Amino acid sequence: MGGLRFYNTMTRSLESFEPLEQDHVRMYTCGPTVYNYVHIGNLRTFIFEDILRRTLQLFGYRVTQVMNLTDVDDKTIRDANAARIPLRELTDRYIEAFFEDIDTLRIQRAEHYPRATEYIPQMVELIKRLEAHGHTYRSGGSVYYSIATFPEYGKLSGVRLDKNIAGARVETDEYDKEDARDFVLWKAPKPGEPSWETELGPGRPGWHIECSAMSMSLLGETFDIHTGAVDNIFPHHENEIAQSQGATGQPFVRTWLHAEHLIVEGEKMAKSKGNFFTLRDLIARGYDPVAIRYLLLSVPYRQKLNFTFDGLHAAQQATERLANTLRRIETTPPAEEGSGCLSIDAIEAFRAAFRAGLADDLNTARALAALHTLLRQVNTALDHGGISGDVRTSLSHALNEADSVLDILPAHAGALPDEEATRIEALIEQRSTARQNRDFATADAIRDQLAREGIVLEDTPNGTLWKRKRQNPPEEK
Ligand code: AMP
Ligand code: ZN
Repeated sequence: MGGLRFYNTMTRSLESFEPLEQDHVRMYTCGPTVYNYVHIGNLRTFIFEDILRRTLQLFGYRVTQVMNLTDVDDKTIRDANAARIPLRELTDRYIEAFFEDIDTLRIQRAEHYPRATEYIPQMVELIKRLEAHGHTYRSGGSVYYSIATFPEYGKLSGVRLDKNIAGARVETDEYDKEDARDFVLWKAPKPGEPSWETELGPGRPGWHIECSAMSMSLLGETFDIHTGAVDNIFPHHENEIAQSQGATGQPFVRTWLHAEHLIVEGEKMAKSKGNFFTLRDLIARGYDPVAIRYLLLSVPYRQKLNFTFDGLHAAQQATERLANTLRRIETTPPAEEGSGCLSIDAIEAFRAAFRAGLADDLNTARALAALHTLLRQVNTALDHGGISGDVRTSLSHALNEADSVLDILPAHAGALPDEEATRIEALIEQRSTARQNRDFATADAIRDQLAREGIVLEDTPNGTLWKRKRQNPPEEK
């Protein structure tokens, strides 16, 4: 374990990563505001978080990840009202769509997906603690955070406070750096807005308090990692720090990681600008989700990702090349022991380079380059003397390990050199024999049996390939 380095937005430097608990990482990843389909800019950030999670696992850590679902805020309320439907109906719809999209992109499920509306008591409690510490004031039925009472305000984002702003307030959840102001924790009820009866009086939470309450309820007052995209740094994460540390007096988060934006023609992809594509848009145009995943993870997260269809096309070709090489490995009989053209050393060099790339602040470009180098060597070996059985086993292990983070390879039989694979291959063999004997009833029965076990067969000119269907993910929450 150990050896990972991350760029911490708070200290503005690359740091060696050590979690608070020896082998357990607790992390909070700001989730979607569920008023519409997520766009591929949002998904770039969620993929970065997926790579982070899987890299931590590769390096031996157990991960507890929380991703919140913002199901009450200015935007969800606005759009539910515009559609004349209850807020819950709107947010349920887009939460379901969100889970479909992350499954399509093979994003691993977090341990917890708290909905903001289910944490109102915790938010009220937190605001009461802030009141007790003198960080708040009330006005017109709302409760505000007085940023002048928190001397560290601005440390994360570098925003400078104008001395003249004392008492100036913002009401909206989102605002610019130039408008650093006292922000709202609890909003007085308004016609057309949902409202909760609480000890603070009736009303609803502001957006920022939601993440402080949900993160600390599920991960503790101090935890290891908090992430989002760069637009979350100010005001959202700055305000979270003020709220959490203002209430507990404890450090809130040890490492802050922020992904750069996905951009189109030089501009941030954003719903409000109308320059966005959803995952569904791209799939409707015929692109494979794996190619989209490949594209979104191929650029290291601290660089802007310029989305173009040429880039997506190139990603599609890259994933097809990877799949073809794997198919070649599967369908080429092993070379005799000692006579193969791929060495164990080459595989070990790949493993080391791949891990070093990820350990270097999740440099996915380096990790992918190592993979492509290995697969070039594999192709050359297959063109010449082949790959012997023992090397093939190591190769499978190494590819499985890499794909436990990237998840861009098709499931391949060689990836599971175990008894289970042997059993499946024996059944496939029986099916081929049955087909040769024109005993289609037996052949179909074998196919159906495997299908029930979640094994899908594909007949190719080079024989029958098989893969496991992706398992159903766990239930929400
Ligand atoms: P939202 O649903 O707007 O709360 O956004 C969900 C996540 O996506 C947040 O972490 C945002 O910072 C992030 N995000 C929004 N737009 C982009 C973009 N163009 N590129 C990358 N991440 C983004
Ligand atoms: Zn958040």
